[in-house]
Amino acid sequence: MEFSRTKSAAGSRCFDEIEIMKTKIGFIGLGIMGKPMAKNLLKAGHPLVVHDLNRQSVTELVSLGAEEAPSPKEVAQKVRHIITMLPNSPEVREVLTGPNGIIEGAAPGTLVVDMSSISPIVAREMGEILTRKGLKFLDAPVSGGEPGAINATLSIMVGGLEDVFYECRDILLVMGKSVVRVGDVGSGNVTKLANQIMVALHIAAMSEALVLGAKAGVDPGLIYSAIRGGLAGSNVLEAKALRVMDRNFEPGFKIDLHIKDLANALDAARQLGVPLFLTAQAMEIMKSLQVEGKGQKDHSAILNFYEKLAGIEVRKPVSF
Ligand code: NAD
Repeated sequence: MEFSRTKSAAGSRCFDEIEIMKTKIGFIGLGIMGKPMAKNLLKAGHPLVVHDLNRQSVTELVSLGAEEAPSPKEVAQKVRHIITMLPNSPEVREVLTGPNGIIEGAAPGTLVVDMSSISPIVAREMGEILTRKGLKFLDAPVSGGEPGAINATLSIMVGGLEDVFYECRDILLVMGKSVVRVGDVGSGNVTKLANQIMVALHIAAMSEALVLGAKAGVDPGLIYSAIRGGLAGSNVLEAKALRVMDRNFEPGFKIDLHIKDLANALDAARQLGVPLFLTAQAMEIMKSLQVEGKGQKDHSAILNFYEKLAGIEVRKPVSF
């Protein structure tokens, strides 16, 4: 937070008034998630300097009042707080430490918050490299999807030093409804992997159950209505069940990105000696959908895998 002192314009009392200026933020990665998150920061009054390889997204943010910078280095030259929201580890490594990267332009003390979902190992590596250069780093992946990004209701899981966390907690609260520090750098992405395992398995469980119900001749809409209030009810069921019955598989969260997350989970598990039997099966299902050309579909297309094997489609009856 920055403060400036301005003369009070009104009233007989002659004293300086403290006017709170919102922190100027660099934002790199204006995709499905990053664009609405950046818009929420602008709406909250934060001046923004933005960068993305996609010109259209940059132009849209500039039309709303953001300033544009041609490279991550030039973003870093203009601000002391930077958020990145990129697809995966290689892009984060490139934007932070590659040629014309943040590290080349940032003044000592600059805080970089990477909100992408990446390998926890790479998050730790980024933290070490940036710290050696005198910068501060948090890994802060999110859950809540595109609606959470638009409505500023994301759940944000943060890894990093406590004082660094408190330095930017208020900024994160502009984009999310829950901001929890879960440990040191890397812990945010470990927590995100746990989240992604549970989401993939919830969708697979919902798919198996609805396909069984439909093949047995029971209305899937009524199955949903009957079980949503019991122990089987879940956020996944609420977010996905009616959508898939409407045959809507537009992303949302793409299968390609979920495969990336499960690959990171399986890698980390192998290194730690943890068996992830069910995750490995969910990965195989998603991989087969990717081979079929459905990588850009929503991860709820897991249902299609089961439908194909069972020879039935789960559809909401017209009357529902
Ligand atoms: P996306 O593909 O829509 O957006 C990524 C953006 O990064 C794009 O605009 C792309 O042009 C830009 N980009 C890529 N490489 C770049 C580079 N080198 N320099 C500058 N810009 C670059 O992805 P998304 O859905 O917004 O997801 C972003 C991250 O958030 C991912 O790690 C994803 O796993 C995670 N996430 C996504 C969702 C979701 O529902 N979409 C939910 C939670 C978390």
